Amino acid sequence: MDMMEKIVALAKRRGFIFQSSEIYGGYRGFWDYGPAGVELKKNIKNEWWKTMVYEREDVVGIDASIVMNPVVWEKSGHLTAFTDPLVECKECHKRFREDQKDTHEHNDWTEAKTFNLMTEVLLGTTEPKEISYLRGEITQGVFVNFKNVVDSTRVKIPFGIAQIGKAFRNEVTPGNFTFRSREFEQMELEYFVKPDEKESKKTFEDFKEIRMNWYKSLGMNTKKLHFADHTQDKIAHYAKYATDIEYEAPFGWSEMEGIHHRGDYDLKSHDLKYKDNLTNVEYTPWVIETSGGVDRATLFFLIDSYTEDGDRIYLKLNPKITPYKVAVFPLLGNKPELTKKAREIYKDLKKSMVVTWDDRGNIGKRYFAQDEIGTPWCVTVDFDSLKDNSVTVRDRDTGKQERIEINKLQEYFEEKLK
Ligand code: ATP
Repeated sequence: MDMMEKIVALAKRRGFIFQSSEIYGGYRGFWDYGPAGVELKKNIKNEWWKTMVYEREDVVGIDASIVMNPVVWEKSGHLTAFTDPLVECKECHKRFREDQKDTHEHNDWTEAKTFNLMTEVLLGTTEPKEISYLRGEITQGVFVNFKNVVDSTRVKIPFGIAQIGKAFRNEVTPGNFTFRSREFEQMELEYFVKPDEKESKKTFEDFKEIRMNWYKSLGMNTKKLHFADHTQDKIAHYAKYATDIEYEAPFGWSEMEGIHHRGDYDLKSHDLKYKDNLTNVEYTPWVIETSGGVDRATLFFLIDSYTEDGDRIYLKLNPKITPYKVAVFPLLGNKPELTKKAREIYKDLKKSMVVTWDDRGNIGKRYFAQDEIGTPWCVTVDFDSLKDNSVTVRDRDTGKQERIEINKLQEYFEEKLK
């Protein structure tokens, strides 16, 4: 099995990611997150929000709607310019994005046609229905609320607005599991600065570092991360500088996050300005954007943490983002005295961290399952526990077991999770 097949199989087997509408054959470009996946994805988003909003003094968050007045998309240029060139293979009639021609076995193509990525929705109850769009990027929700945020809070330039939410694109070639989907989630910061070349370049460089360090601090392999600067032919016409953080996936180096210096393009297209209260000078701020994909980060954290050690498979995820921090087991599922004690520990730990329970099968199978979910510690209540009030704590990465007193467990895990 190749690496992607292993990841897709594990994701399904352990409840990370399922095909959307799987019982009806799935639906191309759409995915569902299962019980383990929803926790992993939520933890990634929470860590992002912690770094980009809570730990800073100059960033506030918003949560804009998915469907917006279509004028937004006219002004932003998405209705005319948000396109991918599409080619069709003359031999087998499969369609590809023009930049993906090399991945195909045949080499006889139609002329490239542009193809708008916006997903239309029809609104209203009477005909003709009103044409609107599912947002193609979450970014515009921030720009159209720029004035609302300035007027309703105490922010002053330089400051940022953060947002996490769903976006939709009619991708020509969805694929590589969740990497290119038609519905996906983005986590973005739009940071507004004075229109100054030097200062804005420094902000751009600072955010490159902040974002790269974020992936590294959560344990992603440094060797599999790099920046790929946009070359002149790829860079958006309005952007001053742009770079991608790429991850070396089994299908090659792939974009995980974009960091863009967007100049004054966005606020200008919506005719929005900022007035400095001290000097009374009005100007159009410039924007530095960090735009990450939640699903791509989730996929790459899964791939990056996947570890095979002989017959053992485990996800070496940073405990901050694992679906569960601890799994609690009674050594045997059919001994009420063990189950009672284990359930007390389970309920107690649950008050301060995300904990899972398992009492099926033998202990080896339970370790095997928790390893594949990435649970860093398993707690087993055995017959000795009834006498000495201690339990066995087993470490995911080393497989080592330690005896810990029950009343010290919470402190023990909290220390490790710091
Ligand atoms: P690509 O070149 O791969 O199509 P993009 O340059 O169009 O991506 P952006 O518009 O910069 O992507 O979007 C910011 C981020 O949103 C990307 O870095 C990626 O993580 C995520 N993203 C974009 N399109 C998709 C998609 N179809 N499926 C999943 N995530 C996506």
